Amino acid sequence: MGASSPAMIGGGSQLEPQNAASTATRKDKRAHKGRRQMEDSFMIHLYKVKMCTRSTPHNWKLCPWAHPGEAAARRHPSCHQAELCHAMGPDRECPHGETCAWARNIFEAHLHPDRYRTVMCAMGEGCGRNICFFAHNEQELRTPPTLAM
Ligand SMILES: [Zn+2]
Ligand SMILES: [Zn+2]
Ligand SMILES: [Zn+2]
Repeated sequence: MGASSPAMIGGGSQLEPQNAASTATRKDKRAHKGRRQMEDSFMIHLYKVKMCTRSTPHNWKLCPWAHPGEAAARRHPSCHQAELCHAMGPDRECPHGETCAWARNIFEAHLHPDRYRTVMCAMGEGCGRNICFFAHNEQELRTPPTLAM
C-alpha cells in the first residue's frame, strides 16, 4: 500500500510585510497609559469642590471629592482668581479665609478655568501623574475662556 506521507504544504512564510503605517488610526484615545482622564468641566467645577459623601475611611488622593480639612479642597472657581493669594507665604496661610478673591492653594490655582491644561506638561505623554494640571497633547490643550473672547 502506498505510504501516506504527511503533506507539507508551502514551506514559505505567509507573513508579508503590510503597510500598516499608512492606515494607522490617528484617533487619540482619551485613556493614556493608565492616567485617569476626567472631563475638563468635571475637573474645573467639581473636582475637590463638592464634598465627599462617603462615610468610610478611604484614600482621599484617589477620591475626586473634597473632605473636611483636606489641603486640596477647593472653593468653586467662579468665586476667585487663578492667581495664588499674595498674602500667603511658605508658612503663612491666606488671612482672608473663605472670602479671599485669590486662589488659596495650588489646586484652586491650577484647576481654575483660566489655567487648567492651558500649558503643556513638561513630562509630555509619558506623564504618570494621576491628576495632572497640564496638557499632554493638542487634544488636551485648552484655551482659557478669557483669551478665547
Ligand atoms: Zn472621598
Ligand atoms: Zn487671600
Ligand atoms: Zn502631566
